[in-house]
Amino acid sequence: MYLLYVDQSGNPLDENDNYFVLGGVALFERKVYWVNEAVDDLTENLFGPDYKVNLRAQAINSHKNDPWHSMPTDQRLAVLADLCEIASQPDLVLFGVAVDKDFAPDPVARAFEEICNRFDLFLKRLHAQENTQRGLIIFERSKYEQTLAPFITEYRNQNTRFGQVKNFADAPAFADQNGTRLLDLAHLVSYAIYRRYQRSNTLLLDQLIYNFDEEGGVIHGLVHLTRGAENCYCPSCLTRARRTPVQTHAEPPANTRSRRAG
Ligand SMILES: [Zn+2]
Repeated sequence: MYLLYVDQSGNPLDENDNYFVLGGVALFERKVYWVNEAVDDLTENLFGPDYKVNLRAQAINSHKNDPWHSMPTDQRLAVLADLCEIASQPDLVLFGVAVDKDFAPDPVARAFEEICNRFDLFLKRLHAQENTQRGLIIFERSKYEQTLAPFITEYRNQNTRFGQVKNFADAPAFADQNGTRLLDLAHLVSYAIYRRYQRSNTLLLDQLIYNFDEEGGVIHGLVHLTRGAENCYCPSCLTRARRTPVQTHAEPPANTRSRRAG
């Protein structure tokens, strides 16, 4: 079975956020132990064996609180680079969806639907390569239990919106942030995508981009949903422009939503 751990970046209710992002890390179930070990080793090298701290990219980058507040900038950047290196190992496949809030009236629903479909496409491709695997999506509990519960109920009820998803073992599940290091990596992916599209800062995504699900030079694992994607030069839109566009039209505009000026 393949597991896809997913985290979010960008607040869907904050008007200062133009983007809502879901990002995650997929891996074969038997690899989970080794990836957890790699992140544990990184933490132990930094803080010793007894110091329990989550390696959350946003906390490391913003360094408002310790242990990151008192850590020199070059060392914090090195920790982020080490995390990117773990997330870039060949056994991991990355997925992410960046939804411009002007593109979709409900960016959370759109991102949820899209990441389910992208993961399912990946599993379909494995099946075509005679490697049949079921998939399970695991979200972080604290953020999602309320936000995503309606979509998961919809999923369980086999609403047609998810009708093409064939390869999942079960409806998406939840895990606690402290229970698995894979959620640290999922957060890294979602935060890297958020920084790229919300802040035009490519530092983290540049270190991860080669590990997104890809076939024949087209990055299927990273989806950028925005009006005017045909004029966008991000890695997702650029590689997609080489073939028939799959996302050429926006959903109807949400009249109640306003973008931040500037
Ligand atoms: Zn783009």
